Amino acid sequence: MNITPLMNDGFDGQPAKRVLKYMERHKDQGTPIVGIYCSYAPLELIQSMGIVPAVLCSFSDAPITSAESVLPANLCPLIKSSYGFILEGTCPFFSMSDAVIAETTCDGKKKMFELAAEIKPLHVMDLPQLPDEPEALQNWTTMIRKLQRFLETTFQLETTDQKIEQAIKNGNKRNRKMRKIYDFAAMHPPVISWEEMYDIGFLTLPSTADEVLPTLEKMLERLRERVKQGVHFGTLDSPRVLVSGCPVGGDALKIFKIIEDCGGLVIAPDSCTGMKAFVGDIEENSPDPVKALAKRYLEIPCACMSPNDRRLELLSQTIEHFKPDVVIDFVLTACHSFNIESYKVGRYVTGKHDLPYLKIESDYSDNDVGQIRTKIEALFEIIQ
Ligand code: SF4
Ligand code: SF4
Repeated sequence: MNITPLMNDGFDGQPAKRVLKYMERHKDQGTPIVGIYCSYAPLELIQSMGIVPAVLCSFSDAPITSAESVLPANLCPLIKSSYGFILEGTCPFFSMSDAVIAETTCDGKKKMFELAAEIKPLHVMDLPQLPDEPEALQNWTTMIRKLQRFLETTFQLETTDQKIEQAIKNGNKRNRKMRKIYDFAAMHPPVISWEEMYDIGFLTLPSTADEVLPTLEKMLERLRERVKQGVHFGTLDSPRVLVSGCPVGGDALKIFKIIEDCGGLVIAPDSCTGMKAFVGDIEENSPDPVKALAKRYLEIPCACMSPNDRRLELLSQTIEHFKPDVVIDFVLTACHSFNIESYKVGRYVTGKHDLPYLKIESDYSDNDVGQIRTKIEALFEIIQ
């Protein structure tokens, strides 16, 4: 069956190339570009100033050897890959960035940022890691206001609470559309593939909501058309997989490819490179839009938070909506936060939801593809 691609109009070409073209166009026009490394970077504030955010997290094995000339080998590949590109000067997104925004998430990233600060102006936000403490919201609000001042001073630009409010409203509209798109993966069988979900998320983030909304609406029309035509991926018997854990992209996409090769369907990629970026709405028309932003961003359930019960709550909502048959927790090698948290996640998934659970710990190399395949085949045998 011929499946009409979702991403024709306005989304031609490989996602990375398309994002690069978008950045180059803005760079040529003199628009400031700031690099970001994390979901905690408040996009709405950045975009309310007309600044373009460039995602700098890297998922390629290629620069890791270079990175290991400075960083320890037993470090998360995401940090090594991101720094390796900086060291080699081969990341066009980093080269184009006029400044970088960083957050105190995990120790590895935090210390890598100190090295990156030797190359670019870098602003670090002190992220509260006990999100339920009463001071956390006030402290994070202060950090966002400080970021505002850094951007205003660095780029001689200004934003206002009204502009931030408008960016919040636009961002909410984009997130709601993204969630509608993901709803097509909740169907049995799904009407959207993991590749499409991944590409849409990747392409959506640097653009403003205004730019991207018409394209998302077209995609929704195409998905509705697919439903009418009976187009879907896999079969009713294909194992449905929720993939939780560390961000997945580039060479780490091997996990999704192996699941697919084993006959499974990735119907809910819940990490920061998947659905997490589009969860929930930011409060609109609040008396303090920066505080509203701070509240939403503080609720992001990253394993660097303690306790991180919101991740379990979000997992429950995702499981109830997308009805997976199994949960796979993808942990990047040497990511202690997600690795230790996987014990609680596994206990929760098997105990509360009675679903099979598998932790896969891996890096960006392809050395363990055979081993991962064997584990996933064994997992699928349990449910068939
Ligand atoms: S997993 Fe945590 S540290 Fe990594 S991008 Fe997401 S929020 Fe940031
Ligand atoms: S995957 Fe883990 S160790 Fe790596 S950057 Fe993210 S939180 Fe840090």
